[in-house]
Amino acid sequence: MTSVYSPGSPILLPHGARIFNRLVDFLRKQYVQYGFQEVITPTIYKKALWATSGHLENYADDMYTVTSTSASRADDAEYGLKPMNCPGHCLIFASQGRSYRDLPIRYADFSPLHRNEISGALSGLTRVRRFHQDDGHIFCRPSQIREEISKTLDFVRLTYGILGLGPYRLVLSTRPEQYIGSIDDWAQAEEALKRALTESGNDYTINEGDGAFYGPKIDIILKDSDGKEHQTATIQLDFQLPKRFGLKYTAPAPEFERRGETTTDPELLAEYGPVQPVLIHRAVLGSAERLMALLIEHYNGKWPFWLNPRQAIVITVNSTEPVVRWARHTRDVLLGLSPAPASATPASPTGLAVDFDDSDRTVGLKVREATSKGYGVIVTVGPDDLLNNTVCINAAALAGPNESAEQLKKLRRINMTPEEARDFMLSKVNSYQ
Ligand SMILES: [Zn+2]
Repeated sequence: MTSVYSPGSPILLPHGARIFNRLVDFLRKQYVQYGFQEVITPTIYKKALWATSGHLENYADDMYTVTSTSASRADDAEYGLKPMNCPGHCLIFASQGRSYRDLPIRYADFSPLHRNEISGALSGLTRVRRFHQDDGHIFCRPSQIREEISKTLDFVRLTYGILGLGPYRLVLSTRPEQYIGSIDDWAQAEEALKRALTESGNDYTINEGDGAFYGPKIDIILKDSDGKEHQTATIQLDFQLPKRFGLKYTAPAPEFERRGETTTDPELLAEYGPVQPVLIHRAVLGSAERLMALLIEHYNGKWPFWLNPRQAIVITVNSTEPVVRWARHTRDVLLGLSPAPASATPASPTGLAVDFDDSDRTVGLKVREATSKGYGVIVTVGPDDLLNNTVCINAAALAGPNESAEQLKKLRRINMTPEEARDFMLSKVNSYQ
């Protein structure tokens, strides 16, 4: 939802927050594999920073200014609300001496960002003023560009595969008429991008002259179920910000290093000097909010279990006291609250989203309602289950499109203990099914 008090800033209700957090959790886990370190950075920076980064010149119309309303507390500067994380990450890179051995350094940041879209353009989760990117910045040596681009393309392929999104196409945008930096830099960067694209086995098209003024980029254009195209992930090479922030690292044979070349000459290798790192901006989801909008449309209520905001519901067959007690126990097992931890130990929940229905209505009605709401697993608890220490789970909603009628029938009625039901669901979550 949104509020008239903050147009363009989506308010995520509990179910939306679940989906958002699971997407972020998924990426955090992949970051371990892809060598990203998450950082947490300020929301407001003095205008001096935005002058250094070039945003004041090129992006001021899209930015919000933050000032103190109390004259006595105003400091010497106006602040800008950040539209991007890159300048903050440049500050971190510049905060200490860096050696070629430290590179690549990859920072990830899920900070909220604000961009001042005109109010007429605002729409749902897609055209917003406040959003989150799965933002990442890679500071690397010129010789590392190609590998970093390849890895990022792998990351995109993995993520879109898990989410079942696609097909997507790749577009390489090259040097525009207005550009900064040398022609040599551009040629080298475009060549690196082309080679990475070719090696990744992806077809791509070239958008001549459509690069950012600071460097060429690869956009990932996703096709939705209606055939409509959306730009989601992006990979941008940047020589501008490292220059503006005076970023450097020390490396042997700096002349060679700068060109992304190596030498075996021991005399040259003995000489160390400063070299400017290359900055790669990359986002795999792009705007998390916009990607959620795409997923909502894409899944159309049939969420995969790991993302489903309604993963399971425990339903009582009748409302007798023993049945309700066993049903509550089952819910607690699924939530990870049973067995209860010893007092003063922290809770260790499973993270499963489990609802509970012990209303007086018929079980048939309750199951139908749960099915229409899109629950992944429906757990019913009746008197027979009490005798056997089991529950009955209906996991038909998790069936693939090609499941046989016989298999489907089996999935509708599986008897297991609450602990087995919990482990079954966690196995789905952990394998992103
Ligand atoms: Zn950036």
